[in-house]
Amino acid sequence: PPVSTTVSLGNRFATELAELALPWQAAETPDPQLLVVNDALAADLGLDPSWLRTEEGIGLLTGTAVPEGATPVAQAYAGHQFGGYSPRLGDGRALLVGELGAHDLHLKGSGRTPFSRGGDGFAAVGPMLREYVVSEAMHALGIPTTRSLAVVATGRPVRREAVLPGAVLARVASSHLRVGTFQYARSTGDADLLRQLADHAIARHHPHAADAEQPYVAFFESVMQAQASLVAQWMLVGFVHGVMNTDNMTISGETIDYGPCAFLDAFDPTTVFSSIDEQGRYAFGNQPIVAEWNLARFAESILPLLADDESEGVEIATASLRTFRDRYSAAWSAGMRAKLGIADADDAVARPLVADLVALMTAGHPDHTGFFRTLATAARGDAEPARGMFLDLAGFDAWAERWLALSPDADAMDRVNPAYVPRNHLVEDALSAATGGDLGPVERLLSVLAAPYDVRPGLEEFAEPAPDSFGQYTTFCGT
Ligand code: AMP
Ligand code: MG
Ligand code: MG
Repeated sequence: PPVSTTVSLGNRFATELAELALPWQAAETPDPQLLVVNDALAADLGLDPSWLRTEEGIGLLTGTAVPEGATPVAQAYAGHQFGGYSPRLGDGRALLVGELGAHDLHLKGSGRTPFSRGGDGFAAVGPMLREYVVSEAMHALGIPTTRSLAVVATGRPVRREAVLPGAVLARVASSHLRVGTFQYARSTGDADLLRQLADHAIARHHPHAADAEQPYVAFFESVMQAQASLVAQWMLVGFVHGVMNTDNMTISGETIDYGPCAFLDAFDPTTVFSSIDEQGRYAFGNQPIVAEWNLARFAESILPLLADDESEGVEIATASLRTFRDRYSAAWSAGMRAKLGIADADDAVARPLVADLVALMTAGHPDHTGFFRTLATAARGDAEPARGMFLDLAGFDAWAERWLALSPDADAMDRVNPAYVPRNHLVEDALSAATGGDLGPVERLLSVLAAPYDVRPGLEEFAEPAPDSFGQYTTFCGT
């Protein structure tokens, strides 16, 4: 491919961890059209947004022009998918172009690679815009995530249930290291490779671990802390990832791989959106337990680094893993107190209050986002809108009386309870318009979601739950 000289990218992963990186190149794009570009993110990365709109810039965003110093690679990884181990997954439709400062520039939908198995290596416009919209919404909510830099329509039709327009998503992350990357490295039996991978991850994401007495134990605990905090934030905002396989869990603690994910409307811990999650393994309420399970697989993959003696390694990992539940609970409880405007309340009072609210919500199924936002109105003296979301009025009243006695801070609540999240019906409407060529609704949705805590007039429809006619929502993977 032609060389782009305007930007230069690092190839640290490709050179330091060559055993995990297959040099590869993106497929040609017959008729590339930039659909959406993230000017603010581009500027943060030192990229000129107007240059990104040139032929050369679009070449960078699709992998068809390779910058100086870059070695685009398909990354190898393994992973447990729905509990079953796949020894070789890897980037089947993606490429790591290289490192832009401290960030990976990565492309999704860039064509077949040696990891493609039965897949075509491509992606459709709708799902790539979906990842763009939801990941940027997560970022605006303050939740660690991969970012989206651009979506380019390729001009290549991709065959799914219907023939759809193809696209490439250019995504940015602090890295694409996954639990599955470690599982793959471990499975090679190359102890040096595993150590090099861990050292690379420590340097990039958990540098303080290097100074610990037992660096790899500290590394494991730091990853565990990052994931406990991340999943707590998902739970607090009503996010269902939908496919928490070990290859979709990062070492950095960023949310990654937005496939069948969706936000709750009505609160219900058993909520599943993904068409393929028939057992409900990745249901909303299971996410903390799944994170713990995935971290156990991570511990197994780095066992040789935890101690020279295997049974000693198992003992260390087991003892460490036992701290996950407290780490998660601490993060979630602090978040719930903040949502209730009682950040400083006594533990003995807050704990049962929060538990009783969850029980009330589980029975009453209020709209998750709407309920928490409306609670601030109750804190300001009008409990009616929140109360109206429950059938058990006496139950709500009894709970609200205890809560209001703690003098909740309504303004603080408005800073942590979003008014706007990517509601499923709005996302679907915007994506079908975009697939039909009208990007207006996607752009409008992006601008609403960029300031989720800031209520603006005229945006009422963005704060409301789906109409009943929207029905049960189902999402699909790998499209
Ligand atoms: P995901 O569930 O999207 O994270 O993908 C799981 C695995 O399937 C990864 O190894 C992907 O690279 C691969 N994959 C997903 N879609 C495709 C596709 N259209 N072509 C080739 N590989 C794919
Ligand atoms: Mg080596
Ligand atoms: Mg994935």
